[in-house]
Amino acid sequence: MTQAEETIFSRIIRKEIPADIVYQDDLVTAFKDISPQAPVHILVIPNILIPTANDMKIEHELTLGRMMTVAAKIASEQGIAEDGYRLIMNCNKHGGQEVYHIHIHLVGGRPLGPMLS
Ligand code: 5GP
Repeated sequence: MTQAEETIFSRIIRKEIPADIVYQDDLVTAFKDISPQAPVHILVIPNILIPTANDMKIEHELTLGRMMTVAAKIASEQGIAEDGYRLIMNCNKHGGQEVYHIHIHLVGGRPLGPMLS
């Protein structure tokens, strides 16, 4: 098994490169997407490197749960909870994953239309 390679997201967690971080705790970090697809587009990521959804294990459940509750908290803080939003995790090539450090896209602030394309 090969060692998973760090991505730019690890450097954002360590604050080695700039990002608009909106939340950080011992398990997760959330920051604004550099190329927003909607008025609110925030990425929620684990502080440890989990490359893809295929690598999620039982021992990650606390972290994965934190990612979801933090996403909901940020949605509320951003004022989009009542109208609604979308939480998305892309996996590998067919899922359109570009950065191999799992992340939940929190997207909202406008009607989003059909989910699949
Ligand atoms: P994926 O396609 O892997 O699900 O999504 C990766 C997301 O990360 C994209 O929406 C992209 O705009 C965002 N992204 C890539 N590099 C950076 C970066 O250096 N900073 C920030 N804030 N977002 C990034």
